[in-house]
Amino acid sequence: VYARIEVVEDQVKALVFTVERDKAMKDAQKADTRIAAGETISPLTGIPMVLKDNICTKGIKTTCASRILAEFRPPYDAHVAEELAQAGAVLCGKTNMDEFAMGSSTENSGYFATRNPWDLSRVPGGSSGGSAAAVAADEAVFSLGSDTGGSIRQPASFCGTVGLKPTYGLISRYGLIAYASSLDQIGPITKDVTDAALVLKAIAGYDRKDSTSSSMPVPDYQAALTGELRGLKVGVPREYFGPGLEPEVKECVEKAIRLMESMGAQVAEAAMPHTEYALPAYYLIASAEASSNLARFDGVRYGYRAQEAEDVVSMFQKTRRYGFGKEVKRRIMLGTYALSSGYYDAYYLKALKVRTLVKQDFDRAFEKFDLLAAPTASHPAFRHGEKVDDPLAMYLSDVLTIPINLAGIPAISVPCGFVRDLPVGLQLIGKPFGEETLLQASFAYE
Ligand code: GLN
Repeated sequence: VYARIEVVEDQVKALVFTVERDKAMKDAQKADTRIAAGETISPLTGIPMVLKDNICTKGIKTTCASRILAEFRPPYDAHVAEELAQAGAVLCGKTNMDEFAMGSSTENSGYFATRNPWDLSRVPGGSSGGSAAAVAADEAVFSLGSDTGGSIRQPASFCGTVGLKPTYGLISRYGLIAYASSLDQIGPITKDVTDAALVLKAIAGYDRKDSTSSSMPVPDYQAALTGELRGLKVGVPREYFGPGLEPEVKECVEKAIRLMESMGAQVAEAAMPHTEYALPAYYLIASAEASSNLARFDGVRYGYRAQEAEDVVSMFQKTRRYGFGKEVKRRIMLGTYALSSGYYDAYYLKALKVRTLVKQDFDRAFEKFDLLAAPTASHPAFRHGEKVDDPLAMYLSDVLTIPINLAGIPAISVPCGFVRDLPVGLQLIGKPFGEETLLQASFAYE
C-alpha cells in the first residue's frame, strides 16, 4: 500500500497525511504473529485501511481538514477506530474531506482538493472524497467515511466504489467529530459488497458511550450474501427520476433495475410526494446543528488559538475568523439565524415538521416494498471549480441522498455502469436496520 501511495498520491491527493510507515509495519507484523499463532482472527486482520479525518485516532492527528484543528491530536480513539484496531486492521492514513464534512466535492478542504482517480480534472465527490478516491486508486483496501446528507454514497458513486450509509444508531458516533448529530452516521467505502458486509460487521453494535447507539444484536451480514433476488419487492420512487436527472444516468440506473427484475425481483413504482422539500429542510437542520456543534471551537479548548488578541472576545473572533473556511462560516451563520428567537418557528421548527413528512413517505413505501431503487446522484463526477462558487448548485448535488438521512434509514451505493467513461452509482434504500436486505440485493446485483 505504501508503495502504491508513493506512485499515485501526488496526483490523487486523497490523504491529508499517511501514518508513519514504521508504525503501520509494526501493526501489520502484529497481525502476522496472530495469524502464525493460529489465533481465530477477523477477516480484517492485517488489512490496510484509511479513515476519514473527522474520526478521532489516539495520538494521531485528526484535523477535519480544517485549519482550526490542524495540530489536534485526540487523546482517545473513536469507537470505530478502536473496533478496527481490535480486529487487526492496519491504519495507513487519514483521508481528505470537505472541512467539517460540509460539501459535496472535497474542494472545501482547508488544505487541498482531492482528484477523482478516473479523471484527474474532476472531483471525487464529497465530503468523504478522500476516502472514496483512496479506495478507487488502490491506496487502501477499504476506508471509513461519514454520511450526513450523502457524503459516503455520492463520492462512492463518483469514484466507482461501494458506499454504505447504515441506519442511524447502528454504529457508534463516539469520537466522530460532530457536524449534524441527528444525521451523522459512519460507514464503509469498499471495492465490493462483500467487503462492505465484513467492515460493517466489525464496526456495528451497541456502545454505551453513544446514547443514540442501538442495542439491537448485530446480524451476520456475510450470511445475507446469498446471490438471491427472487421475491424481493423493489419500489422505484418516481420523484427520484425527475427533470434534474441526466438522461444517460437515468438510462443506466433503469437498466440496472431491469436487470434486478430479470433476476426475479418484483419491481413497481413507489410514490414519495414530499421528496422535493427534503433539501431545504436538510440545509436548515444540518446548519442549525452545525452552528451549535462548532461552538466548541473557540481557541480555548481545542486546536488553533489566535495570538495577539486584546481580550477574550477578540481572541474568539480572530481564532474563528482564521480557523474556519468560507463554507463552514456560511453554515454557522445560516444555522444561527434559523435558531434565533423570532425565526425559530418559521425555519427550524418547520424544517423538523417537513422531516417527519419525509420519514412518513418512507414508512408508507416500506409497507409495500422491501427496498427502494434510485440513482445515487443526478450526474457523474463534475469538473473541479464547476460548482465551487455556487453553493446552491453544490447543495443540489445531494438531492437524491439527503431524504435518507432525514429518515435515519440505511442506503448503499453500488457501481452500475459508466456515462462518458465516468462511474455511475445505483442507490438501494432500506428499512430501518434493513442492512441485510440491502447487502443481499446489492451483492446479487453486483
Ligand atoms: N453535501 C452535504 C452537506 O454539505 C452532505 C455532507 C455530508 O453528508 N457530510 O451538508
